Amino acid sequence: MTSIERILEVAREAGRQAALLCRAVHADTPESMDKGDKSPVTIADYGSQAVILRQIQAAFPDHGVISEEGSEHLRESAGEEGTAKIVKLVSGVIGSESNFEEVCGWIDHAGADGAEYTWAIDPIDGTKGFLRRQQYAIAIGLMRNGVPFAGVMVCPNLPVDMDKPEGQVGVMFAAAKGHGTVSVPIDGGDEAPISVSKSDNPGDWRVLGSVESAHGDPKLVVAMMEHAGVGGGFVRYDSQVKYGIVANGTGEIYVRPRSKPDYRENIWDHVAGVIVCEEAGGRVTDVDGKPLDFTLGQKLLENRGVLATCGGAVHDAVVAGLAAAEASN
Ligand code: AMP
Ligand code: MG
Repeated sequence: MTSIERILEVAREAGRQAALLCRAVHADTPESMDKGDKSPVTIADYGSQAVILRQIQAAFPDHGVISEEGSEHLRESAGEEGTAKIVKLVSGVIGSESNFEEVCGWIDHAGADGAEYTWAIDPIDGTKGFLRRQQYAIAIGLMRNGVPFAGVMVCPNLPVDMDKPEGQVGVMFAAAKGHGTVSVPIDGGDEAPISVSKSDNPGDWRVLGSVESAHGDPKLVVAMMEHAGVGGGFVRYDSQVKYGIVANGTGEIYVRPRSKPDYRENIWDHVAGVIVCEEAGGRVTDVDGKPLDFTLGQKLLENRGVLATCGGAVHDAVVAGLAAAEASN
């Protein structure tokens, strides 16, 4: 059965286990093992994907899965120590003994092709932030017929109260189409519905972008702010936490211009964040204001960057500001 309640129950439990695993790795010193494309990956990326897909495979064997990691590189680079480490981590979190083959099987679970429901999973989004012990997110998104339908995004280092950055950290966002978005402190505390900012004064609008300049075009973002009179500041965070910050009303604009003309966004960097933001009342398109097309496989082949805002006039002002900034470049 695929009810929204069951989907959220499974995704939330998967996210909870993944966060436990990531924090267990942080208790040690996480080491990066570069992938062929030079992007960093850690034992926590693989462990997180294993515990998430173990749950999804068991609950929804007929769903499809598109996920960031595969076991091939883990098998090549983990060595004896890494192999023992990941089995121990996963076994600890799931509460029963597993083995390396089983863990690799979960990591590689791809489910059914052409299914009505397909999960898009980034077990650690913002691995660079994870390595710096800053922001990262566990992103568990679900599409129905190629449209974001439900999502759980766990942000283990995000302040529960954004006005108290030194206070409790660790937030889970959960959303499903037509059901709104909730925010849940992961170490205890009340679950609460969240909604986007209602600010209509450009001078107050706060902008979010990537820490990594190579993942966007910060100069263009600053030029857009000048053109549109956006004055609430430009803050840079790793990962999809940026969608959560727009969703909880403590930022108005998450803008992600294309870093280079041939870059195409991976869907696992967006599905969970998009539904979290939209269900809180926000709007998400590409930087030209065009709807995101999730039906083209692993990447957003037909979109230029991504723009998530609290909606309405803010969205239109940013699209116009970006166009003006690009034209005068
Ligand atoms: P962020 O933390 O917002 O910088 O986004 C992290 C994600 O950026 C990673 O998960 C990558 O999939 C993605 N990424 C990698 N290279 C690029 C690039 N050149 N432009 C945009 N995104 C990228
Ligand atoms: Mg990612």
